[in-house]
This record gives sequence, structure tokens and C-alpha cells, in this order.
Amino acid sequence: MTSSSSIQGQTAIVTGASRGIGKAIALHLAKTGAEIVVNYSNSSEKAEEVVSLIKDSGGKAYAVQANVSDESSTNELINTVLEKSGQIDILVNNAGITNDGLLMRMKTEDWQAVININLTGVFLCTKAVSRAMLKRKKGRIINITSVVGIMGNAGQANYASAKAGVIGLTRSSAKEFASRGITVNAVAPGFIETDMTKDLDAGPILSTIPLGRFGSPEDVAGAVCFLASNPAASYITGQVLQVDGGMIMS
Ligand code: NAP
Repeated sequence: MTSSSSIQGQTAIVTGASRGIGKAIALHLAKTGAEIVVNYSNSSEKAEEVVSLIKDSGGKAYAVQANVSDESSTNELINTVLEKSGQIDILVNNAGITNDGLLMRMKTEDWQAVININLTGVFLCTKAVSRAMLKRKKGRIINITSVVGIMGNAGQANYASAKAGVIGLTRSSAKEFASRGITVNAVAPGFIETDMTKDLDAGPILSTIPLGRFGSPEDVAGAVCFLASNPAASYITGQVLQVDGGMIMS
């Protein structure tokens, strides 16, 4: 048993858990004994596969479709979980997309789509879950941002702005919720091998990573599970934990 065994018996929603980093977070949290809500947008088969993987290893999970950028959809997600599980202990705001392009040529809809899912989605899910968490005076919220939100990136003005916004949202909600026993932290991955990065020219990036390798979804999942664990992470709030192989040090 690890220190995160304190998660045993808790209910965790992981947005965008059908693939990549969200899937790894769902599997890792499930191993510690949490019941997992596998949220997805389109990939229902992949989400059900994640649920099966968890159940086959003796864990508890179910999938719920919801578009995190849509207010009625996120409210429905949270209400469904409250009805089925009775409580929400952990929210991991992981769902995200990219839609890259140079700013000069970026269409407003490409800007807006990324802001809507990557930033407004975090706001909507946090808002929807906050009433139940504030009432219980208990909760962990972990937002997946990116090193790009700290350092900027050419060709990703929309994505970097959304991820920088997530850091501001993390710190603001951490301050609002702290007196009610809820912590809010962010994890900022560097370059992680998933569908999101598979078509990028990764060669030049590798030389900027002191640890000399790209990250895996499991690398990020470990940090998220630590921030969800109690009492190990109970005195940490409003922080941004970089999981980037040392790519940026500040
Ligand atoms: P990914 O493999 O492309 O998976 C994205 C996940 O988000 C999928 O489960 C997808 O669901 C879900 N999703 C997309 N739009 C959604 C919506 N509107 N509502 C609900 N779910 C939605 O991406 P990833 O690399 O694992 O990235 C996960 C998170 O880490 C993102 O926030 C990303 O920005 C962040 N991040 C990634 C990296 C990296 O190098 N990969 C680095 C830093 C930060 P469907 O399968 O149903 O489409």
C-alpha cells in the first residue's frame, strides 16, 4: 500500500479519461481504491475499456459522457455522479484539446474552441462540483495545466493562454475554498507521449529535457495521485507541480 491508500473508498471524477493522461490517472487512482468516474466526450468504447480494466482488477468505475465546455452537460455529469455515488471527493480536470496555428492566421473559432474546453471547462466542472464539496467541507481538485501555460509557445497562443488561465483559476479557487477544507492544485506536464503529441516533431524538444526522455501518462498520474492523497498532500494548495523532466526550472 502506498501513502495514497488514503484515497480508498473515495469517489473521483476524471474528465477526459478515455485516453492518454486521463486514462492513466483513472487507472492509478483506481489502484489506490477510489471509485472512478470515467468522463469522455466522444470515445464511448475507449471509456468503457477503461471501466473494464478497472473492474477486471477489482476496482469500481463507471463512464459518463459529458462535454466539459457545455454548462448543462457538466451540471448533468455532476448530478449523475451525486445520484449514483452520493459524494464527490476528488475532481481531476484533465480534458483538453489542441488546435495549433500561428496567431496571425489563427481563426477566432480555433482560439475559442481551445479556450472553451481547456479553460471554461475547468471553470464549469469546478463550479458544478463546488456546492457539494463546500457543503461537506472536503475535497481535492486537481487541474491539468501545461508548462506551455508558464513559458508560452509559438503556434499555441490559444492553448498557452488557456493553460495560463488554468493556473490563475487554480490559485483563485484555492484561496476561495481553503477555509472549507478543499485544496486546489495544478499539475503542469511537459512533453508527454499521447495522441495529443504523436504528430509533433519531437526531436528538437528532447534536447531541452534534462532527464533525457519524454514523459509518460503514468508520470503525470503519479503526481496527481500524490496531490489527491491524504494526509500526504493535505497541507498543499494553490500550487503548480511541474512534471516535465526538468524542462523548465524556475
Ligand atoms: P489526449 O490523449 O488527446 O486525450 C484528451 C482527452 O480529453 C480524451 O479523453 C478526450 O475524450 C477528452 N476530451 C476532449 N474534449 C473534451 C470535452 N469537450 N469534454 C470532455 N472530454 C473531452 O490528450 P492528453 O495528452 O492525454 O492530454 C490530457 C490533458 O493533459 C490535457 O488537458 C492536455 O492539455 C494536458 N497536457 C498534455 C500534454 C502532453 O504532452 N500530452 C502536456 C501538457 C498538458 P474523447 O476520447 O472522448 O475525445
